[in-house]
Amino acid sequence: MLELLGHERQRKLLAARPAQSLLFVGPQGVGRKAVAEWFARGLNCQRGFPPCGECESCRLQDHPDFRLIEPMRFTKAGQLARRPQIRLEQIAPRAGSAEMSLIEWLQTSPRYRAKVAVIDSAHLLGEQAGNALLKLLEEPPSYAYIVLIAPSREALLPTLASRSMTLNFGPLSRRELSTLSNDEVALGYSEGAVGRLRLALSDPAGLREAEAAAREWLSALASPAQLLRLTARLRQLAQGKFDPWTFVQAGLTAWPAEYRSAAYAAFMQLQDDLSAYVSPELAYTRLALAMRRIYAEMRAGSPVSR
Ligand SMILES: [Zn+2]
Repeated sequence: MLELLGHERQRKLLAARPAQSLLFVGPQGVGRKAVAEWFARGLNCQRGFPPCGECESCRLQDHPDFRLIEPMRFTKAGQLARRPQIRLEQIAPRAGSAEMSLIEWLQTSPRYRAKVAVIDSAHLLGEQAGNALLKLLEEPPSYAYIVLIAPSREALLPTLASRSMTLNFGPLSRRELSTLSNDEVALGYSEGAVGRLRLALSDPAGLREAEAAAREWLSALASPAQLLRLTARLRQLAQGKFDPWTFVQAGLTAWPAEYRSAAYAAFMQLQDDLSAYVSPELAYTRLALAMRRIYAEMRAGSPVSR
């Protein structure tokens, strides 16, 4: 049976079937998709909400009344797409397409009670696909529920957002996550996301390596001879499974507010530099030098210079 953590308020609301078009927003990994699946299970459970896990419908692995639509990562020629996208043929019928579109899938009645389609990364809907979906949201069949999943309401086409009821999903609390693990390092890395916690628990050695590197980097702010070498090392580690900069940022919470916010500003500068295609090496060097300056000012008790 589906294991699900937290989001009690959202689940209570969903059990009352508030709308046929729903928009789940929140950071990746907090469980938006898992709650959407729980909703679909509950709609079709013979005993209603919460899904019992034992009836005929609940016991099905691949449920015929559930459909997940995700952005295509490859082009028709089989090459990696420049930008993943949900294409028109995934939503509406199109000549020459082998796959059954969402609209076609919704034309037949459910095997149980309700058909539920989940559109993951709905902010990656192409324009034509978005328009086709809009028509569906305006007049869905009585048995159909459509759940859009996106990082934020603003990320979505406004016409789609305005026709859907929005539910916000925030990070889970430490108390909720600690039912899965008591590993402090993994809990720290999770940032309130079950998905991130599971990833952290899948490779304890790798996680500890990233954490140790981050700690070493932070202590190099006090004696900066090695700082640039360590910066290169963190950049290299960040290419792997775990991003050590997450631990660096978590380490800043112990800093007094004034210096901490200057340090976060240095990280935002880094994001700006990287999205402006400044060479990554240069962008990270700039971060390291700014952090060193802020740290020195904190040690000396002098105000932060801008
Ligand atoms: Zn059931």
